[in-house]
Amino acid sequence: MNIIKRHLPSHLYSKHKLKPVGSVIHYISNKYAKPLDPFNLEDIIQIFHTYKVSAHYLIDRDGTIYELVPPTQQAWHAGKSIMYGQENCNAFTFGVELVSTGREHNGEKAFTDEQIEACIELHLQLIKDYDINSRHIHGHDTVRKNWQRRYPEQKAKNKHDPGAQYPWPYFRLELDTRANRI
Ligand SMILES: [Zn+2]
Repeated sequence: MNIIKRHLPSHLYSKHKLKPVGSVIHYISNKYAKPLDPFNLEDIIQIFHTYKVSAHYLIDRDGTIYELVPPTQQAWHAGKSIMYGQENCNAFTFGVELVSTGREHNGEKAFTDEQIEACIELHLQLIKDYDINSRHIHGHDTVRKNWQRRYPEQKAKNKHDPGAQYPWPYFRLELDTRANRI
């Protein structure tokens, strides 16, 4: 697996060290600005600049993996979030973005087979290198919902990524089966 380093400028991520135990999976596209061309990589990189957010990894439609934030640092991807009872997932999870609109696009699946394979291989590497727990890999939608349940009186936007099209059962089965072979 080849990971291409393409780091965002350091003002787009935290000075705090990451203590990784898991990851949060997202999708990102430029569909609002360019509905006919939502997957242009340079446009997507620009979104991180515009919104001052970041993620450690970005997986393109063809399965190419870019490292956008050094894995030693916390990225800004999850916002208000809770995983296994712990708040602020940015402090303890990698952020993994898949280039997708979350739904079928031009006859392509929401997430291409190449992307899902790359996402599995990336996580196998993270398990090997950082001993992250495969039980602590969740979608942005889930970790936001956990936060909203704990703080129903506070405002936090719903998150829809990676959504219903992300093949969780396949991903988890493949990950666990292959992780046992590491
Ligand atoms: Zn997200």
